[in-house]
This record gives sequence, C-alpha cells and structure tokens, in this order.
Amino acid sequence: MRKWDLFFELYENLPRQGPGDNASTRKAYRMMRGLPDRPRVLDIGCGNGMQTLELGRISGGDVLALDNHQPFLDRLNRDARSAGLERSIRTVNRSMKAMRFEDGSFDIVWSEGALYQMGFLKGLKRCRRLLKPGGWLAVTEAVLFRTRLPAEVRRFWREEYPDITTVGENIRKIRAAGFTPVAHFRLPVRAWITPFYGPMEKRIRGLARKYRDDARALALLETWRKEIDIYRRHSDCFGYEFFIMRRE
Ligand code: SAH
Repeated sequence: MRKWDLFFELYENLPRQGPGDNASTRKAYRMMRGLPDRPRVLDIGCGNGMQTLELGRISGGDVLALDNHQPFLDRLNRDARSAGLERSIRTVNRSMKAMRFEDGSFDIVWSEGALYQMGFLKGLKRCRRLLKPGGWLAVTEAVLFRTRLPAEVRRFWREEYPDITTVGENIRKIRAAGFTPVAHFRLPVRAWITPFYGPMEKRIRGLARKYRDDARALALLETWRKEIDIYRRHSDCFGYEFFIMRRE
C-alpha cells in the first residue's frame, strides 16, 4: 500500500479536501466591493470544488478551477453539470507553481486551503500578478491563535507546516506582497467538522475495515485519525483564517 494511493482513496471521497463551508465562502465573497457583473474568477487548488460551485452560483461570472489531481476535476465537472453550472465553470489540470496565465487576467483569485503549497508569501505574490488592478484575492490559510503551544501541537505543525504563523504575521505578508488587507475572519469549528473531518472520520473507519490485514495502511489511517483528534482538542490554538485583500 503506497501512502499516496491510500491518501487519495481517503480524500477523493470527501465532500471537500480541507476546512471550509459554503457559508464562509459566501461571507468572504460579500466582503468584496465594486465587482463587474460577470467577474472572471480563478480558484486555485479547487479539489472537488465545493467552493468552486458556490462561486459559480453567487458570482454570475466565469470560474476557472485549477488543480493538479484529475479525479478531483472529474468530480467537479460532473457536479457542475448536475447543478446546471457547466457553462460558468471550467477546469484546468495544472500545477499552481506553473500557472502561466497572462498578467492581469482575473477580477478575483480564490484559494481555500491550498496556497501554502507555494508558501504563503510567494503564493500571494503570484496571485497578485494574475489580478487586474483593483482585483480581489480571497484565501484561507492555517494560522496560530497563540504563540505558546502545547508540545503535541508544536510537534504536529513542525511536521506538517513549519511556516504556520499568527494572523498578524500573515497580515504583514499580505502588505509585503503588495495588497491592502480588507477583512479577515476565523473559520468556525463547524466548517472543519461538517464537510471535512466528520466525513473523514467515517471514511477512515471504512478503510480500516477494508485494510484490516494491512499493518502499513492501518498505521497511516491512524496518523490521519490523530490529526483530527489534535484539532478537536486544540481548536483554541490553531485554525484557518479567511483573508480578503485588494490589489490597488
Ligand atoms: N480548495 C479545496 C481543496 C483544498 S486541499 C477545499 O477547500 O476543499 C488542497 C488542494 O490543492 C488539493 O485539491 C490538491 O490536489 C491541490 N494541490 C496541491 N498541490 C498542488 C499544486 N502544486 N498545483 C495545483 N494544485 C495542487
């Protein structure tokens, strides 16, 4: 059992691949001002595209959803058709590290739980180039709510994402990347549990039955179960923040 095969077997079947929910997507969207009637939107690291579909519904514009894992994009294309959104949503299989769109092509760039793949500051700078002047960027990023952390939380983030930092530090990065920070808010706990960790726990139990004779698979499933457990016990220490900013 290869780690990534099991990882995708787990993740492909979840409603989404990171924390977030439609209420938070809508809340962030409504914080943006002065948008054209049919904005051009880029959704980076869309996964199964729960937020892409919501953006298609609320923006009335054209949404291009980018990810480098085709099964996620296949599912999004199917869901867009069932929702009657196939004319407003297109998908592209490409790495966010090689986006190669023309500078200034989008009114809105969106990215939930994915920009850290490039590093937050570098990701912000790349998004800025893609925006028209006056364009908007909305992203979620894992953040620390305090700097003194229990040992197991410190260890977890040292492994997962050593660059994780506070909301204040991220706002400094937003300015350093040439944006005006306009608003930010913390994702509620239910945005982690209802569409993400809840279904993930259920799926882990199913896979543990399927692979009950495979010690390596069971060990991997246990590390993912522990991740959920750490969040449940320490959601006062870390979480996700939505940042909404404007390119002047
Ligand atoms: N926005 C979705 C998915 C977040 S998970 C949600 O909130 O549910 C992060 C996503 O980034 C995954 O779908 C993963 O396939 C994608 N990803 C990871 N590295 C990438 C890269 N280099 N280029 C494009 N997408 C990438």
